[in-house]
Amino acid sequence: MVEIDWKNLVFGYVPTDCNIRCEYKNGEWGELTVHREATINLHISAAVLHYAQEAFEGLKAFRGVDGKVRIFRIEENAKRMQSSCNGIKMPKLPIDKFTEAVIRAVELNKDYIPPYETGASLYIRPVIFGTTPLVGVRPAKDYEFIVFVTPVGPYFKGGFQTTPFMLSRQYDRAAPLGTGNIKVGGNYAAGLSASEKAHELGYSSAFYLDSKEKKYIDECSAANFFAIKGNTYITPKSDSVLPSITNVSLSKIAELLGMKVEKRHILVDELSEFDEAGACGTAAVISPIERIDDIDTGKAYIFSKDGKPGEKSTVLYNYLRGIQYGEQPDTFGWNTFVEV
Ligand SMILES: *Cc1c(COP(=O)(O)O)cnc(C)c1O
Repeated sequence: MVEIDWKNLVFGYVPTDCNIRCEYKNGEWGELTVHREATINLHISAAVLHYAQEAFEGLKAFRGVDGKVRIFRIEENAKRMQSSCNGIKMPKLPIDKFTEAVIRAVELNKDYIPPYETGASLYIRPVIFGTTPLVGVRPAKDYEFIVFVTPVGPYFKGGFQTTPFMLSRQYDRAAPLGTGNIKVGGNYAAGLSASEKAHELGYSSAFYLDSKEKKYIDECSAANFFAIKGNTYITPKSDSVLPSITNVSLSKIAELLGMKVEKRHILVDELSEFDEAGACGTAAVISPIERIDDIDTGKAYIFSKDGKPGEKSTVLYNYLRGIQYGEQPDTFGWNTFVEV
């Protein structure tokens, strides 16, 4: 048995037993293979190192209240990875190959799936990158797909709570017709300056405006934006936002609970009319927003006066987590069970 201090896990890399790999060579994907080492042997001129031909995914497995292990919305992640591959000229990884690799990675590392009571989970990171040695700019011929897992602690150490966010007009995350809508590492490199600035100023993260008109809210570097106005769940419609699976799931739950859902442009000024706001993604499900400071205009938009998350955000958060941990009926069929 492995010895892990489940209570003090953070969001970082913890070594596990193995990772799953698959190579793309001569125009086709090979068999899945199991590897104990956490390092790879890569050519110094590999496409990924110089021209960022890389896409990744992030999903989680949970040990439920009934002791069973569930992976949340695995097929949606598989489809999104195909769309990312398509966007940067990598061969699409078949859905079956993706799901089989993810399930095996979880099965073979079952000892690292945190116990239910800890509120922790097993983070799953699939990644595909170009390995062909290149100097000229073109798509690689050969690729490697890897799935590794690592146990991660609960996002909220002191319980579900709000934090402040900033909005900056000095940075863009993605170009209007660029790669904002696919999950590629290049977007993250482009967002590091704004994120670091946000952290230096004491904010959780930076929100970006649409980079064309600088009028509408887009998202932050790793999470979508949503707001609650009365009984309506509102989230931005934009070609440069990454389609968050958490966001779509929260929208579905909102509808089920009798709320209205709107996907549309959100003007910055409209922030003052919202009752609640949150950033959403796999890591936190919902990170409720206390306030958004528009640091270039000096305006502040406040969503929580007492530091507590809003009522609707709390209901949505508990419902989604309830499905993931098997406390709530899986009405939508989002979970894949893993026999461990
Ligand atoms: C991964 C990601 C999200 C969140 O997506 P989920 O599927 O909910 O985890 C949001 N924005 C960006 C830019 C992302 O890369």
